[in-house]
Amino acid sequence: MDVRTGNGFDVHAFGPGDGVTLCGVRVPFPRGLVGHSDADVGMHALTDAIFGALAEGDIGQWFPPSDPAWKGAASEVFLRKAVERATERGFSISHLDCTLVCEAPKIGPHATAMREALACIAGIEPGRISVKATTSERLGFTGRGEGIAAIATATLVRP
Ligand code: MG
Repeated sequence: MDVRTGNGFDVHAFGPGDGVTLCGVRVPFPRGLVGHSDADVGMHALTDAIFGALAEGDIGQWFPPSDPAWKGAASEVFLRKAVERATERGFSISHLDCTLVCEAPKIGPHATAMREALACIAGIEPGRISVKATTSERLGFTGRGEGIAAIATATLVRP
């Protein structure tokens, strides 16, 4: 049994807008997140966690920000690619865990929808996916409301 664990981390800054996309779910908010793609910070961290478990580089190598093809892209494209690579390598995704760090918006009311959206993309049941949230106690860039950070862990198993 080959059990792999990978981590991922991502940050996107707030900018003009009327909502943010987090873990595949559109959350109404008086600001948006700035990024080359849809800036789904949670999905980016999860994608990197899977690439980390596979030791296959990172999201920036697979999807270079300089490539106009990914401008405004839905981040599920990135997560689907990582899942596809895991499958091609003979791994199944045992568990995904994502922590979103921000003072606002409130994540709790959307966590179940986020788990279901991620489960659909990853092809596993929602019981194997965790979405959590915390603040940074008003400290640092997340505490000042300048952006959102995400930390993720992926556990992959190959019989
Ligand atoms: Mg990103």
